[in-house]
Amino acid sequence: MADTFVLFGATGDLARRMLFPSLYFLHAEGHLEEKTRIIACARSAREKQAFREEVAAMVCERADGAQSDVVEAFTKRIHYLAIDVTTPEGYGELAAAIRADGGGKEVVFYLSTSPSIFGEVCRGLKAQGLSEAPHRCVVEKPIGYDLESNIRINETVAQSFSEERTFRIDHYLGKETVQNLIALRFGNRIFEPLWNSETIESVQISIAETLGAEGRGGYYDEYGAMRDMMQNHLVQLLCLVAMEPPSSLSAEAIRNEKVKVLRSLAPITEENVEAKTIRGQYTEGFDPDGGKAASYKADVENEETDTETYVGVAAEIQNWRWAGVPFYLETGKRMAERKTQVVIAFKPVPHSIFGGDASNNELHIILQPEERITLQIMNKKPGISADGMPLEELPLNLSLVERNNGARRRIAYEQLILDALTNNPSLFVQRDEQEASWKWIDAIAKAWSDRGVSAKPYRAGTNGPSAKHVLTERNGHSWYE
Ligand code: NAP
Repeated sequence: MADTFVLFGATGDLARRMLFPSLYFLHAEGHLEEKTRIIACARSAREKQAFREEVAAMVCERADGAQSDVVEAFTKRIHYLAIDVTTPEGYGELAAAIRADGGGKEVVFYLSTSPSIFGEVCRGLKAQGLSEAPHRCVVEKPIGYDLESNIRINETVAQSFSEERTFRIDHYLGKETVQNLIALRFGNRIFEPLWNSETIESVQISIAETLGAEGRGGYYDEYGAMRDMMQNHLVQLLCLVAMEPPSSLSAEAIRNEKVKVLRSLAPITEENVEAKTIRGQYTEGFDPDGGKAASYKADVENEETDTETYVGVAAEIQNWRWAGVPFYLETGKRMAERKTQVVIAFKPVPHSIFGGDASNNELHIILQPEERITLQIMNKKPGISADGMPLEELPLNLSLVERNNGARRRIAYEQLILDALTNNPSLFVQRDEQEASWKWIDAIAKAWSDRGVSAKPYRAGTNGPSAKHVLTERNGHSWYE
């Protein structure tokens, strides 16, 4: 395990809400070694003790009932260092802090800052001999705005850290249910023979948020839903659903299978973009509590913006396993409810002996609001009947909340930080995966621009633009809302 965890961006929003609380839980549950130190870096000046108290407050905000002695022992691991990473001066002091007390034998650098300064950080570390093996770096999204900028950022990082020592975070991969999807598919014999176009009718992957873009104006207005969510989280979920069984759980084996899926995605072009995708933007409406919600244009203070806050795509994977099975992907802000789910809809039985419409089995893999896996199966309706054997659909439930006996819900970053500390890259995104994904996304963005496809309005607090139903109804399907 690494002896030093260096966090750049230690005063930022991500560090406050996710990274320090995750590090705390790793400490409190005994996953950190005695020697593991945390060097927290940002520009602002902070006294060492004052910063420790700030972190203690962040932790208590997240960890109900955290014991003060455990929190104190955790914050003692933290050393704050004010450094402007865009100037070379501070790196000597950083190197000295890392190497103090015999530390710095194995270091994880977590870059929770804007990617625009990744280059300077990596060069600064290299100049101090801190980018050699076994040191590694973790980089946060967004890694680029398109394929070209993605390659540029990756090249910059690669000049200091080799690919196997570059850990690209997609925090969805740290979620319990996402890992469970791998366990479900490859740890059980029963699903794999059914996991193909012979048996599966459609796959739907949705990430719906109730929040708007308020407070993220500049960044979001430049990126939009396609680049902010589809390129990474939705595409990663699609890969895990569609990939072939990897030969092992190694990063290399999983990556190879994911890349094959990405390279098999049918291109979306100027000719088919209007039939295969929908862009939307929320207008004034309601939040889930019934309060008024402003329009996107008002949220980002840009009356002219046409950035999409909703995107729906009917994707196809051109290979033997999936030919003909639509993969419906959607994500949106200011939707009716907060929900992240994957629904695998199976084909109906070939011939129903029960009368009425044959129903489909469905496997629901729900990540939010609570983690749950449900298999919808047909069951005889209890009781007697003069009218044949009526059926009803019942769920077989695997609820992680109940299974964990009310234990706290983990932060996805906990597993990922632990993996970075122990040098296990399986749940991180490799460079060629990202490039293949950007290639597909860039083609859609170009087709939108060439065809002048504008964002269709939908009211805040609804399920997205009504035109999205055309994507599914064309195939006789509907969205699971
Ligand atoms: P943020 O709140 O703006 O914080 C940025 C951090 O970087 C601050 O600690 C800031 O220090 C530090 N920083 C900026 N310029 C610096 C410099 N020249 N030298 C040293 N430190 C510098 O950003 P964030 O929301 O935490 O996000 C961090 C990264 O994670 C971004 O790439 C973001 O896109 C990504 N991300 C964030 C979230 C999220 O929920 N926040 C989610 C996913 C990905 P000072 O405050 O001292 O200036």
